[in-house]
Amino acid sequence: MSTPFITLEPDADARTVQARLTALGLWTRRLETGTRAGLQVTGPSPRVPTAELLAIDGVAEVFIAGTPHPLVDAQARRTIDLGRGVQLGHGVAPVLFAGPCSAEGPDSLNAIAAAASAAGARVLRGGAFKPRTSPYSFSGHGLEALRWLREAADAHSLLVCTEVMAPEDTDAVATHADILQIGSRNMQNFALLKAVGPAHLPVLLKRAMSSSIDEWLLAGEHLLAAGAAAVVFCERGITGFDRHTRNLLDLAAVAVLDRVYGQPVIVDPSHAVGRRDLIPPLAHAALAVGAQGLMIEAHPNAGAALSDGPQALTLEELTALGRQLGIPMNRRNAA
Ligand code: PEP
Ligand code: MN
Repeated sequence: MSTPFITLEPDADARTVQARLTALGLWTRRLETGTRAGLQVTGPSPRVPTAELLAIDGVAEVFIAGTPHPLVDAQARRTIDLGRGVQLGHGVAPVLFAGPCSAEGPDSLNAIAAAASAAGARVLRGGAFKPRTSPYSFSGHGLEALRWLREAADAHSLLVCTEVMAPEDTDAVATHADILQIGSRNMQNFALLKAVGPAHLPVLLKRAMSSSIDEWLLAGEHLLAAGAAAVVFCERGITGFDRHTRNLLDLAAVAVLDRVYGQPVIVDPSHAVGRRDLIPPLAHAALAVGAQGLMIEAHPNAGAALSDGPQALTLEELTALGRQLGIPMNRRNAA
C-alpha cells in the first residue's frame, strides 16, 4: 500500500502540521532531507484525499507512489448509485439486499420480494445461474428466473442483483438486472470480469474464499478498467479451520476496506455462517464495523429450498431483522 510523503513550506512548523495530520488519524514520521523537511505517512493510516492534505497550512506538496489500483482508489469515499436513485456508501443509510439463494418460481419470489420490501430492502437478490460445488446439485432456472426476478422486483419497487457465471450470459443478465454479481468462486475469473465490465452496471464483487485483500481490490480494478460503473465489495466469509460456521466472517477486512481504502463494502452473513440463528448478531456486527449494506438470504419454506435452506431466514425473521437494524430508514435514499 502506498502512503503519502508530504513536504513542508520552508517557514512551516512541522509539529503543527504533524498535529493536524494526527487529528485526521494519520501516523507520521518526520524526515529531514538535506533541502526540505518532510513528513512520511506510515501505516496503519486511513486514506485522506490529497486535496485535504494540501489544504493544511504549511504543506507544500504531496507525493504518492504509484498505486496498483487507481480506479478503485478513485471511487474512495464516494457514494455509489446502484440504480433508480438508490445510493450506497458513506453518509447514507445501509442498503439491504435480500432474497432467496435461488430464484425458484414467480409466486415464491413475489412473496419474498414483499417481505424484503417490508424489511426495508432496496434490492432483491436471487440466483438464476448458480455455482454449485457438486455437478448434481440444482444449478438455477436460468433465463426464466431472470424474468421472474425482474417482475417480482418491479412489483415491489426493488432493484435486482443476480450472479453472472459465464461471459456469454452477460447480456441476458444485464438486460434484467440492475447490479451484476460476481460470485466468490469467480472473483479472479479475469475473462468473466472483462466480459461484465462493458455492461456499464454496478458490480457486486464477492471476495473469494482464500483471497487476500490486495487480490480482492485488484479484481475490482479489473472490473472498473473493463468499464463497470462501480464496484461494491462483498465480504462473505473466507475459509477457516472450524466447522461450526460454513466460513470465517472476516470483519477486519470490512473495516480495512471501509477505513483504509474508503471503499463501498457490504457483508453477506448468510454465506459466511451458513446457519440462520447466527445471522442477526453478525448483521449487527457488520454494520458496527463499517459495512454499508448487507446481503441476506430468506425463503418462505426453508426446509424445501432448492439451495442453502439451512441459512435462509424465514420471511418473518427477515422483516423483524430489517426493523431491528433500522434498515427502513434507507427509504430516504430514494431519489
Ligand atoms: C450467492 O450469493 O448466491 C453465492 C453463491 O454466494 P458466494 O459466491 O459468496 O458463495
Ligand atoms: Mn446461497
